Amino acid sequence: MKTSMKLSKSDCLTIPKNMRVRLGWKTGMSLDISAATDGSLIIRKHAEICRFCGSTQNLVYYRDLCMCRNCTDSMLQAVKEGEV
Ligand SMILES: [Zn+2]
Repeated sequence: MKTSMKLSKSDCLTIPKNMRVRLGWKTGMSLDISAATDGSLIIRKHAEICRFCGSTQNLVYYRDLCMCRNCTDSMLQAVKEGEV
């Protein structure tokens, strides 16, 4: 599915309704946006990732920090050993 459009005067872009419906995107949902090196823009449904390694598996939360179990264990071990 491909379409062409122009940015509005305020640099906004409206995602066509047929694309939003197809992707299951609803008003108010969070999206992740990233610029690729080839000049394209990638927009995906928001996914929580580990702040340290980018993993999406075995996530745990501490206050507003999201991290995976592996990084949590590594951090705890470093604290126990006095590395930090
Ligand atoms: Zn991690």
